[in-house]
Amino acid sequence: MPRIVIIGAGLSGLATAHYLVSSLSDAGKEAEILLLEADAVPGGKMRTIRQDGFSMEWGPNGFLTNKPHGMELVKELGIADRLAPSSDLARKRFILSGGVLHRLPETPPAFFQSQLLSLSGRLRILWEPFASGPPAGVDESLGEFARRRLGPEALEKLIDPMVTGIFAGDPDKMSLRSCFPVIYDLERKYGGLVRGMLGVRKERAKRGVKGEMSAGPGGALMSFDHGVQTLTDALAGRLAEGLHLNVSVDRIERRGEAYVLSMSADGKREEMAANVVVIAAPAYAAAGMLSSLDEGLSDLLDGIPYSPITVAALGYGKATMGNPLDGFGFLIPRGEKRKILGALWDSSVFPNRAPEGKVLLRVMVGGCARLRWRRSPRRSCSPWSATNSGASSGSPPSRSSRRRSSTTGESRNISSATGSGWSFSSGGWRGFPGCTSTATPIAGSPSTTASGSRARPRSGSRRRYSTPLRRRLRLPPQ
Ligand SMILES: Cc1cc2nc3c(=O)[nH]c(=O)nc-3n(C[C@H](O)[C@H](O)[C@H](O)COP(=O)(O)OP(=O)(O)OC[C@H]3O[C@@H](n4cnc5c(N)ncnc54)[C@H](O)[C@@H]3O)c2cc1C
Repeated sequence: MPRIVIIGAGLSGLATAHYLVSSLSDAGKEAEILLLEADAVPGGKMRTIRQDGFSMEWGPNGFLTNKPHGMELVKELGIADRLAPSSDLARKRFILSGGVLHRLPETPPAFFQSQLLSLSGRLRILWEPFASGPPAGVDESLGEFARRRLGPEALEKLIDPMVTGIFAGDPDKMSLRSCFPVIYDLERKYGGLVRGMLGVRKERAKRGVKGEMSAGPGGALMSFDHGVQTLTDALAGRLAEGLHLNVSVDRIERRGEAYVLSMSADGKREEMAANVVVIAAPAYAAAGMLSSLDEGLSDLLDGIPYSPITVAALGYGKATMGNPLDGFGFLIPRGEKRKILGALWDSSVFPNRAPEGKVLLRVMVGGCARLRWRRSPRRSCSPWSATNSGASSGSPPSRSSRRRSSTTGESRNISSATGSGWSFSSGGWRGFPGCTSTATPIAGSPSTTASGSRARPRSGSRRRYSTPLRRRLRLPPQ
């Protein structure tokens, strides 16, 4: 029976394993599927810490329903009854500028009334339909695009915080085409953003689609009663004996027809042969694994910049807050020169995240643009970001698109202390799927032994991968 090994049990690895099992079963094929995870718990960046009545997310606090695959997966896993929609406040977002929280305008009238941009900044945006077209043959950065179409103030006060909110990255180092393909296509198809929005509105009307178009993310923000870890726990539970924790792969080699993985499993050195290997670990980890198999690929992966980010979860008594926290939270443009990137008001969006009378805030610290440190010359923010951060006045020195991909970081626990009502968690920013490849499949060959999930032809509707995992992993009760 062929063996497929997936490295990394974050959402990418877990979902890959799940769909492999389903599609092989549906196709009537057999395979042994093993998922190897370096950490003691599956889920990667998606982890929920529950303590003293607070539910604190390491990374994402939910997912958007406008991408159908997420909801389909939830239904397939049978956890739709655990879904918890966000409150309407999730749509209300703020930007800190000049020491004042400005509501992010979502509609054209709100935009022109907003004091977030100066009058000249707003007029410059009005001029957008007459802006010059895209430069030919260049992988333009988001920063260059925004300066060209919307002007420098819009870049600083609207685009920069938006990029912080999604990637914790630097707009001058991010490819527009890779990171924001919808905007890229809008300009090419309609000749500009305003024209594009009008064109899309017309097409929506033709198709009978109702509802206001907004500048915010589409769809509704959705989570689960006990946080996003519900999803990764459900996926991990399906894989049962195929999932191996505390197994860190450090090298992949080719020996004859087989791929041989070298790893540390519970502190012991081991080797394992596989027919097919899927790497669903961060690019820098993949780079290390592949250095002897394919140096060129390893170098390419190592060139993908990552933004370090730390998430601090803070619990306060509601009565002590001098702000109603009536929204999703706020982001801060780099020009404000603050040490934090922004804060999410998690308990306003998902009220069960904090006990009665308390609020939960998550504060983001770090990001490519604000930190001038790097752990290794090749692994954190792009090699030139440390010397060129805040490059609002010029083009970046390199146009290499591989250097300009998006961000993602790594997870490091810094501390956890709730006695004083404070808790800290930490996570790394995972890149936007359109920007970095999170699962790198490699072709492969023969086998040895190990316990794995087996994909077999499905008999009736019964699934084979239902061994409960919670006790074995000592996960908190749901
Ligand atoms: C603060 C924060 C907020 C976010 N908000 C959002 C959001 O709102 N919306 C959104 O879509 N996304 C968001 N993200 C991104 C989202 O969390 C990630 O895209 C997603 O969780 C990445 O999943 P992954 O499986 O690709 O990677 P990871 O979660 O990084 O998983 C990779 C796994 O590989 C394992 N691994 C690494 N090296 C090895 C090795 N050598 N051997 C074995 N295993 C290894 C790791 O331990 C890890 O478990 C956010 C991320 C963060 C940090």
